[in-house]
Amino acid sequence: MGDRANRLSHWFWRLLQGRSAAVDAKRRNSVVRAAGTHQQRLRELTDEQLTEAAAELRRTDRADYSDADLALFLALAREGSRRTLDLDPFDVQLLSATWLLSGQVVQMATGEGKTLSGAIAAIGYALRGWTVHVASVNDYLARRDAEWMGPLYRLFGVGVGWITSSSTPQERRPAYAEDVTYAPVSELGFDLLRDRTVTEVAELVAPEPGVVLVDEADSVLVDEARVPLVLAGSVDEGSADRDLAAVVRLLRAGMHYETDDEARNVYLTGAGAEAVERALGGIDLYSAEHVGSTLPAVNVALHAEVLLTKDVDYLVREGKVQLINHGRGRVARLQRWPDGLQAAVEAKEALPASATGEVLDTITVQSLIKHYPKVCGMTGTALAASDQLRDFYQLRVAEIPPNEPCVRVDEPDRVYATVEAKNKAVVAEIAAAHATGRPVLVGTPDVAESEQLAARLAELDVPCVVLNAKNDAEEAAIIAEAGAHGAVTVSTQMAGRGTDIRLGGADGADRDRVVELGGLYVIGTSRHYTSRLDDQLRGRSGRQGDPGGSVFFSSMDGELVTRHAPDAPAPTKVDADGLVTDKGARHTIDHAQRVAEATNLEVHANTWRYNQLTAEHRRILGERRDALLRTDLAARELAERCPERHAAVLEAVGEQVLEDAARQIALHHLDRCWAEHLAMLADLREGIHLWALSRESPIAEFHRAAIPAFKELLGEADRRTEESFLEVKITDSGAELGAAGLRRPNATWTYLVHENPFGSDLERTMRGVGKILKGAL
Ligand code: ADP
Repeated sequence: MGDRANRLSHWFWRLLQGRSAAVDAKRRNSVVRAAGTHQQRLRELTDEQLTEAAAELRRTDRADYSDADLALFLALAREGSRRTLDLDPFDVQLLSATWLLSGQVVQMATGEGKTLSGAIAAIGYALRGWTVHVASVNDYLARRDAEWMGPLYRLFGVGVGWITSSSTPQERRPAYAEDVTYAPVSELGFDLLRDRTVTEVAELVAPEPGVVLVDEADSVLVDEARVPLVLAGSVDEGSADRDLAAVVRLLRAGMHYETDDEARNVYLTGAGAEAVERALGGIDLYSAEHVGSTLPAVNVALHAEVLLTKDVDYLVREGKVQLINHGRGRVARLQRWPDGLQAAVEAKEALPASATGEVLDTITVQSLIKHYPKVCGMTGTALAASDQLRDFYQLRVAEIPPNEPCVRVDEPDRVYATVEAKNKAVVAEIAAAHATGRPVLVGTPDVAESEQLAARLAELDVPCVVLNAKNDAEEAAIIAEAGAHGAVTVSTQMAGRGTDIRLGGADGADRDRVVELGGLYVIGTSRHYTSRLDDQLRGRSGRQGDPGGSVFFSSMDGELVTRHAPDAPAPTKVDADGLVTDKGARHTIDHAQRVAEATNLEVHANTWRYNQLTAEHRRILGERRDALLRTDLAARELAERCPERHAAVLEAVGEQVLEDAARQIALHHLDRCWAEHLAMLADLREGIHLWALSRESPIAEFHRAAIPAFKELLGEADRRTEESFLEVKITDSGAELGAAGLRRPNATWTYLVHENPFGSDLERTMRGVGKILKGAL
């Protein structure tokens, strides 16, 4: 009975929600219609008068718009855009801006003009007193969008700036001082981290966070949300143990080690452990001496050897290991694995060890976004991610209808029995389409497959351009030509993202001929681990009502099925070319993809639980750091705790120098303690497998250790501050920290630790928990 009542109330709640969403949508449509009534009048105004009219909408209190004000604002935006950009915004673009202005994620198909919608919303926020960060996916798009939309911003009297990864602090400060700043999401994070290391207010770069408008919101907020951004400092030489690499190279799968079903973890068997012990001179890996040092090193070396494959997971270029980011299928610059693994891969490839450093601070994309009081975003594929967006960010998704209905023909998947048969069919399909002159865009999962495919096409005299690991601007220029007559473009996922593919080439000159042939033909050489990535690839064709087509190829022995649906029934009806005609084949592929999605979601939720605590600690520490940085708190506290020393220093150097010296000392120790705390947490996670012995849940154990450690941290920082204050020489030119061995790291650098392909070191260990032990027993 209670259950039934529950269901009823849930149903009623859904109904109410559905009703209110419908009412809301209706209201927005009428606001957009009302915007039309201003149009005639606005057309007659001079540019100056338009700017003045916009100024009347200004508020400093971040107030929401009334419907009447919103209609006027949209009308101004439309007129302004016509004049400055030569684009007349479609109603759906204005509609989208209204949703963005109420802090939602909008789903708009590729080519519907998200850049303009986003700029209109950013202006709308800026007029109400918000500072806005538009988070782009890369340097190229940050700059391009800011420059492209610049004239519209200027007409509204709203300042706009952009930042790329190569911007200097001197360039960043004025860019952030504008009302609206376009920047790659990673740079927003790195600036936040770097600002947490300064010791003078004048050195701060980024302003108080206001609104963040996230472009490609599902990639950033869901796919990459777990990626930690890392700020590291104080260089030393990394150590890579080539001997261990040589030892694990001799181990055999099945006999010495096993991998789990998803090939995310590898673990030694008893025989493997024995073999390693012998090779290392008869040591006992599980003895107190080795269990915390040699054993983890062997595991990391084994992981590098077995689970990371050259040209799939990383490239070796110019004597360095470069990671391939699976989400984007391209080389991710500045990324490295957690230090131990990076060194192990370098050892495996017999490369010199790259410099490592101490992690000074780190933040995940998810925490970065949470740092903003207001979040909104846009993407082509949000609906499929709506559960995650709601659960992790309390964001709702609004689906914006296309301006022109989509007429792209999405063919059903073609499923082959084997990878070879599938590859053959893919090449044949490309060649056949190319023979007619129809442009083909091929999406592959990784760089190695792109190159293999290009080689096979070359054998058939089908010329193609391969997009991977180039710089963003070059990629954009190449992909813009993917719709040209006769073009064959092979691209890993996301290469050239954000660039429009026009039929008949970038200038559209040859459009009619290409339309005749059916428009851009998108071929996916395998399904991704989530249907959203499939949809993103498909969406590159059929923009703005263009004709187009898409088809995906899969195979029953491909990675998706073998990893995620290993028990799928073997195909029974296979034709001479290897095409599977069983009714259930497509179902198997869909099922495998859903399992993959669920697995990822579970990992995401798990990491989220771990990161919550550290994020909260980071926030508490941040508040204290800010108070120390901006006020005389450090001096006041020291006056209380060390009154005699305080009085003596005050007399010797005066209040200003004393205040500054106290601040320098206190910040130094707070930052040191935080870096040590992070290192401790990393050790804690590395050691987590041992806890499985105590049958505690790892997360509970993690909390049990991390919470008191954090409490101690604050006391420890105070204690060290006091000690230094008593000891460090303080002269008219300040505290001589360097002489007392309290130097701050002079070199810092930033990187992303990508989660793929094995998850963070934490997750890896987590998932490997029982299994490592299994090797021991
Ligand atoms: P998205 O990011 O949604 O894929 P873009 O913002 O890159 O789309 O815009 C796609 C293309 O549509 C661009 O070439 C842009 O100039 C064009 N466009 C955008 N809005 C309009 C409009 N209102 N009228 C005509 N063309 C437009």
